[in-house]
Amino acid sequence: MPDHRAECSCGQLSLVAHGDPVNVGMCHCLACQRRTGSTYGAQARFRTDQVEIAGESTEFVRIGDEGNACHFHFCPRCGATVYCWFDAEFRSVPVGAFADPTFEPPRVSVYEERMHPWVGVPEGAKHIF
Ligand SMILES: [Zn+2]
Ligand SMILES: [Zn+2]
Repeated sequence: MPDHRAECSCGQLSLVAHGDPVNVGMCHCLACQRRTGSTYGAQARFRTDQVEIAGESTEFVRIGDEGNACHFHFCPRCGATVYCWFDAEFRSVPVGAFADPTFEPPRVSVYEERMHPWVGVPEGAKHIF
């Protein structure tokens, strides 16, 4: 099983995930658009025990539509988010933080009602809603 290494823009905050993710998704919701500054978020989900984190992070807690708290951890120096979680058993990592174009594509696509019409969804991805 390969290790996957994610970093913030300045490299201060990093994360190593041992083995492959339990899921990879893309989310088109407006909160993900705001958080990433991009037109969707792509996240890889790992079990918390697969993940080792090094460096300092600042936490931002956002309450989602269903009232659940999402904890975002970003580098206090460069501002890049390196992981987030809402279920303590898992850590989600923005796929871009791996800077690895061979990283597996999203298996699920979420919130397509907010999707920019020019965004493509990988073939075979499940459309959740
Ligand atoms: Zn940084
Ligand atoms: Zn989202």
